[in-house]
Amino acid sequence: MKNCAHCHKIFLSVLGENVCPECRAYEMTLEEDVKEYVRDHPGITIRELIEGTGAPDRLIWRMIRQGQFENASGMEIQYPCGRCGKMITKGAYCDECAVKLKMEAKKFADAMKMRTRAAEKSATIRGGSSKTYSNTMYNEIEDARK
Ligand SMILES: [Zn+2]
Ligand SMILES: [Zn+2]
Repeated sequence: MKNCAHCHKIFLSVLGENVCPECRAYEMTLEEDVKEYVRDHPGITIRELIEGTGAPDRLIWRMIRQGQFENASGMEIQYPCGRCGKMITKGAYCDECAVKLKMEAKKFADAMKMRTRAAEKSATIRGGSSKTYSNTMYNEIEDARK
């Protein structure tokens, strides 16, 4: 049993979910609304998207990190890099910051021996594309935004 992170109701967490089924269903509805809004307003910014849909920042950012906007046909939304503020259209950071953060993450990984192998493994798998975040980094980005 778990307390829903959203409405604090107690519910049975089968797969380790943090929100109850009702809140999850509500989030999914919101995600659909957000996607539809972006489809109707090509090239809008994150701010306009948040104001236009009333969806929470966290939900929007999660969708960006999950690459949900990139999957829609030719759709591009611009938003500031989470580190330097430069306008970008994918990922959470611009290419420069992604490289810097990757190096910082590498240092961090080196310091934590247990994590090093996993971080390098995912860096190898994802290497070569502009999407060079490892899963570890995604978690760190998530934590940094809390
Ligand atoms: Zn709930
Ligand atoms: Zn940047």
